[in-house]
Amino acid sequence: MTTEYEVVIGLEVHVELNTDSKMFCSCPTTFGAEPNTHVCPICLGMPGVLPVINRKAVEYTIRAALALNCQVAKYSKFDRKNYFYPDLPKNYQISQYDLPLATGGYVEISVDGKKRKIGIRRVHLEEDAGKLLHEGTGPKTSLVDFNRTGVPLIEIVSEPDLRSPEEARLYLNKLRTILHYTGVSDVKMEEGSLRCDANVSIRPLGSEVFGTLTEVKNMNSFRAVERALAYEVERQKEILERGEKVERETRGWDENRRITVSMRGKEEAHDYRYFPEPDLVPLEISRDWVEEIQERLPDMPDERQARLVRELGLPEYDAEVLTSSKDLADFYDACVKHYPEAKTVSNWVMGEVLGYLNEKGLEITDLPFRPEDLAGLLRLIDKGTISGKIAKQVFQEMCKSGKAPETIVEEKGLKQITDESEIAAIVEKVMEDNPKVVEDFRGGKEKALGFLVGQVMKATRGKANPQLVNRLFRERL
Ligand code: ADP
Ligand code: MG
Ligand code: ZN
Repeated sequence: MTTEYEVVIGLEVHVELNTDSKMFCSCPTTFGAEPNTHVCPICLGMPGVLPVINRKAVEYTIRAALALNCQVAKYSKFDRKNYFYPDLPKNYQISQYDLPLATGGYVEISVDGKKRKIGIRRVHLEEDAGKLLHEGTGPKTSLVDFNRTGVPLIEIVSEPDLRSPEEARLYLNKLRTILHYTGVSDVKMEEGSLRCDANVSIRPLGSEVFGTLTEVKNMNSFRAVERALAYEVERQKEILERGEKVERETRGWDENRRITVSMRGKEEAHDYRYFPEPDLVPLEISRDWVEEIQERLPDMPDERQARLVRELGLPEYDAEVLTSSKDLADFYDACVKHYPEAKTVSNWVMGEVLGYLNEKGLEITDLPFRPEDLAGLLRLIDKGTISGKIAKQVFQEMCKSGKAPETIVEEKGLKQITDESEIAAIVEKVMEDNPKVVEDFRGGKEKALGFLVGQVMKATRGKANPQLVNRLFRERL
């Protein structure tokens, strides 16, 4: 008999805030600079220097916490987390221990059409460490870049509420979308502005007590998180099936081999000898400030999604896709303002626009034309100036040149031919050239008409009005 297990997952997500300057000094935070150029005595941890709290970083943390439905603390403080690592010049990290800036929030995910609330245990503010570079530096050599040292970082700790690797991925996606809406971070996993450690355990189905967890690190994509967790679940199952115990440890994900490897026994809070940071005063967060930040918070993806369904009658699926980023949702809303057929606009944005962006690896903000121009294109179809098929051609041209659709139609001579006598002449010519097909049609082969219409379209390079062509053929056949 095999035991059925329940999977338990909790994620610790680190997000770099996109403030202009670092957490405790005025060094810039820009990504990709020459190594060790964005440093000063404070972020290099020289003796005797004094940190100063970046107000913007505190504000951004509160902003993110509110977007995650958290309670913002009235009183909060920073603590020293002591450990040695070559990327940490001070030998301690300024973080928050027992009085984080925010607690008790949640993120809603949708799993197989059902909504699930995933608890957020805490959101705290800390400073990032430097970056070690192990590659291409010769044997037994590593280099360190301190540009990242001291960049404001928030840690978002979930409750152990996730029940599958897939839920973990959905949660991460939702979290990223929400944070992106708030604008406090670029949330780019490939640039390291979003990083995730995953805690996972299993327990016999129905059991009330949690199993022993392992923590998995070093995943560099959401897919990798999902794969690493799936691997870890299987590994733990096999251990339990053998009658052995899972060891509480930190493991690293090896993307090439698609396995997790033991790194070290999992550290516990007391290993870090936390104590209050003596160089910083505690924070008293006024309710007025929190309210002010709350008021400036934009609508979150869930609200916008619901509004698209409620007010514009879009299907849930469309609404979800269109609100997957704030910029996309803004673009869509702007299009609808200029062309109120919501579903038609949705089809174009989800089909042509996203298709083009995916193909080129671009963002919606990279489009060289305005929402008004897409609306203008749709109006050209309505007016019969161009056919839907030609419109797709014009759209591609808009993407390339950024020109207005009217201009492109004019310049390329793409205007639909609606002059009946002009098309009639072509129709007659096509009938003359294809007597056999004409016979077929008259003998009852409906499909033959499609071929004849196609010939006219070919002759006019798609510019003949299809309804008109059809009618003219039927009159003559
Ligand atoms: P700490 O890091 O303070 O020791 P925990 O390790 O208990 O706190 O929690 C850290 C993360 O691990 C949280 O995201 C939490 O949801 C998750 N977690 C806690 N217990 C388990 C468990 N048994 N299985 C999986 N995840 C867990
Ligand atoms: Mg932990
Ligand atoms: Zn500095």
